[in-house]
Amino acid sequence: MSDDKTLETDATELLRTLIRNACVNDGTPTSGQEERSADAIEAYFAGSGLRCERYSAGAGRVSLITRIEGSDPKAPTLLLMGHTDVVPVNASGWERDPFAAEVVDGVVWGRGATDMLNITATMAVAMRRLAKSGFRPRGSLTYLAVADEEAGGTHGASYLTREQFDAVRADYVITESGGVPIPTRSGVKLPVTVAEKGVNWRRLVVKGTPGHGSMPFRTDNALVTASEVVRRVALYQPKATILEEWRRYVEELELAPELQAALTDPDRVLDAVAHLEPLGLARLAHACTHTTFSPNVVHGGSKINVIPDRIAVDVDVRALPGVTPLDVDAMLKEALGDLASRVDIEAPRGQEGSRTSLDTPLAHAMARVTQALVPGSKLIPRMTGGGTDARYFRWKGVPSYGFALHSQRIPYTEYPLMFHGNNERIDTETLRLSAAMWEALCREFLG
Ligand SMILES: [Zn+2]
Repeated sequence: MSDDKTLETDATELLRTLIRNACVNDGTPTSGQEERSADAIEAYFAGSGLRCERYSAGAGRVSLITRIEGSDPKAPTLLLMGHTDVVPVNASGWERDPFAAEVVDGVVWGRGATDMLNITATMAVAMRRLAKSGFRPRGSLTYLAVADEEAGGTHGASYLTREQFDAVRADYVITESGGVPIPTRSGVKLPVTVAEKGVNWRRLVVKGTPGHGSMPFRTDNALVTASEVVRRVALYQPKATILEEWRRYVEELELAPELQAALTDPDRVLDAVAHLEPLGLARLAHACTHTTFSPNVVHGGSKINVIPDRIAVDVDVRALPGVTPLDVDAMLKEALGDLASRVDIEAPRGQEGSRTSLDTPLAHAMARVTQALVPGSKLIPRMTGGGTDARYFRWKGVPSYGFALHSQRIPYTEYPLMFHGNNERIDTETLRLSAAMWEALCREFLG
């Protein structure tokens, strides 16, 4: 078998194993059970000389670490990090069994194929090949298969960076997601995730006065008040902010000049996205230029003939980098206006966003390596509204990127639908490209 074919087969088979392990994380402490995939990856490393360590922040919530020690303690070090858990599925929406890991015409189907077992697997393949080849880098290379990303990292990256930082310490981190090629007139652009919005979850507790449902006139019904609270929060529109990452991303898309100008002007962007097609770009442009508020869950009421005195509305707030949790609360009060005094704001999660420069020695090495594999390609910065484990490292000042290297077999417009959606899949050429890229990058940057 040719070397390329071996790489592709290795990555495909390891990915299929990880999909079949079905480490489904529904947010409860006993779900996930990532130990299964830690076992599989450790077994895959057998015979390569790599020795594994295990860290666990709960029964079965195992993260696996292996390392190739560097020879020069002053040389920069790199951590490759992939999560092993996946989100639950609604199998009825899938065209294929989400945990069978079928390969159909060069495409692997299954939960986690895109988010992010493909990267976890290809990083492991590169790690094993480097170890077997006797690679002796100047700076240390660490591989981390981490648990619990999908529920915020309590049993994974949050725990490791807080309690076991020496085990995961590195000068640079790469994890999900990026590297899905965007074709433009001047060539292929490869986005690198360099910034994340801050995840802020708020519970708005609306108060009222209980009473009999048979006589609603002039009562103080918390549900009726809550409906106005939901309306105000949904319509609330804080002023746009244009961050450098967004400006550069839009410039690289090579859109019509008038559209590019509007999407990067804080006074015009909201009008520009109002009727913009495709809808995916409109949503992205809005999210990358605004702190957003989405009221998603309502709890309350007890019985059909009782006027409710308490309704809780859960709002998913995504704050632009630079917007603090306190700023988020101030925005919510502004949105509520004269109803603010009737609402208690609880904050189950308040996190700041995070940013990393794309002008670092590692990013320059990524650019050189990807240009060799995809001639004419160019790395561009990207911001995401979703949270990844990169934030725990960025908060500690460690430059952290989301990247991989994808083929153009699956169009970039398909990817947003597959993350946490139905019919997740990845083509095996992408697995080969990514594995080759990780190996070349480690040799280029650490060698
Ligand atoms: Zn993920």
